[in-house]
Amino acid sequence: MKRLLPLLALALAPRPALAQVPARPYDHVVVVSFDGMRPDGMERADAPTLHRMRAEGAAALGAQTVGDSSTLPSHSSMLSGVEVRAHGMDFDDFHPERGFIRVPTALYVAHDLGFSTAMFVSKIKLRHIAVPGSVDRWSRPHWSCERVAAAAAEYLATSTAGITFIHFSEPDDSGHRFGWMRARYLQSIARSDRCFTTVMNAVEARADRDRFLVIATADHGGHGRRHGTHAPEDLHIPWVAWGSRVTRGDFTDPVRTTDTAATALGALGIAVPAGFTGRPVQRVLGPVTPATPAR
Ligand SMILES: [Zn+2]
Repeated sequence: MKRLLPLLALALAPRPALAQVPARPYDHVVVVSFDGMRPDGMERADAPTLHRMRAEGAAALGAQTVGDSSTLPSHSSMLSGVEVRAHGMDFDDFHPERGFIRVPTALYVAHDLGFSTAMFVSKIKLRHIAVPGSVDRWSRPHWSCERVAAAAAEYLATSTAGITFIHFSEPDDSGHRFGWMRARYLQSIARSDRCFTTVMNAVEARADRDRFLVIATADHGGHGRRHGTHAPEDLHIPWVAWGSRVTRGDFTDPVRTTDTAATALGALGIAVPAGFTGRPVQRVLGPVTPATPAR
């Protein structure tokens, strides 16, 4: 009887509140940002991996970036879940004296809870988003997407649960030099897609590939040889999610770039912080586990 007492105590103890324990839809989130990629550019370019992700996953080709459709402000919103006025990254260059983003990013929140975080980027100004202590692996190997993708793929071959952010800059570079939607611009999306293939090969080679959510998106679009305005061509971005729990198909529900950070946290079973204005895109996380069994 004496030995049974602890068991009895256990049986009588209040059951853990299952509703409080968030399900973890995925173990890994990979956000790949194609700098300056318009949704119609993605559609027209020779980009077989992006097109396969769209076919196998969920795609919102009418997604929107923030009003300041420049690289650093937009990426800051993509990874922090708040608008530019809230995160304060309202400039678009590397200014070390201006410090780091002033709100917690999705990587910051996940890292605090013990997840691994990594950033592989081709533009040094994105360093402003890598708050010290929130990113285990910061890498800016080169401006070319081939080098960025190779470093990211090597990491992803053995990475532990967490968030990985990858950034390719070629579409933006070509847009400024040759014009958005011109042939050279579309070729640069094709090149970025080959780099993306390197990343996806690493993910899909893993035994636990079903535990990955991959989001392919962009910071902004562009028109003529510029962006940063409120023109629809600048504000529209593609938002494509690929993963085992995704409800397949194109969808038109409004997606804002701030939803990327919220979705990344939701994918890891982390509640969205109160300060976020972005919301998880539920259709890529799968059905919510009910708090009590349905009868
Ligand atoms: Zn640009």
